[in-house]
Amino acid sequence: MNLIYLDESGNTGLNLKDDQQPIFVLAAISIPSDKWFRMEKEFYDILKKALKTDLPEDIELHAMDLKNQKKHFENLSKDDCLFIRDNMLDLLTRYETPVIYQRIIKNKFSDFCEKEYGPGIKINPYIMALAFVCMEVNDCLKNIGPDELGMLIFDEQKESFSDAEKSLKTLKLDADSILKTTNIIEKGFFVDSKKSFALQLADLTAYYIRKYEEDKFGKKVSKIDCQTFDKIKNLSSKGAGAKTNDILEWIRKYHAV
Ligand SMILES: [Mg+2]
Repeated sequence: MNLIYLDESGNTGLNLKDDQQPIFVLAAISIPSDKWFRMEKEFYDILKKALKTDLPEDIELHAMDLKNQKKHFENLSKDDCLFIRDNMLDLLTRYETPVIYQRIIKNKFSDFCEKEYGPGIKINPYIMALAFVCMEVNDCLKNIGPDELGMLIFDEQKESFSDAEKSLKTLKLDADSILKTTNIIEKGFFVDSKKSFALQLADLTAYYIRKYEEDKFGKKVSKIDCQTFDKIKNLSSKGAGAKTNDILEWIRKYHAV
């Protein structure tokens, strides 16, 4: 069994013309159940080492808090924060955690929607990205073995909650759906990220993947953020995007507004 944690970065909802955040990313990290306890321990060991105290009960790693030295990280030095960032990304590499993501350039996506459905019609990029990510995750599981199963776990705080549920249901249950996920079981769990180290890792990963994609897109990214790019390149999956047409068709059929 594999636990698959999803989080997004750059979500501006239906506002697809945001110059500050031109890119949306939905990322998934897949943790085999037999590695889960060891990874959890190492996750908290990294935090303990940097905070140099017992961890507060409500400690939560958030990419933005860490980067801006806010909340639990406000008394830490810049170096301690970078220590956490780098060690968390290395933790995923060391455990060979598959990272699957979909990037959407919002501007282009907006043009696609208008062309397909007419002026003013918009679709939440989350919906589209989730279909891609689910298919990639499914392929990734099937590559491990035909009976390899996965379960999707999301951050419950998200406004995309109902959109996510709707997509998942269509992907799995609708007999007409041209996209079928065979190895993903259950309906998707929505949990409090505070209680899930792996959702916090997904948050960090999604954030730096977005930075990586923004840099490729030509947006200015700080030097400090660029330091993570070798790690991100190492982590990200290969061979995405082969099913573009199917997914667009699926979007057309199920999510026309
Ligand atoms: Mg997040």
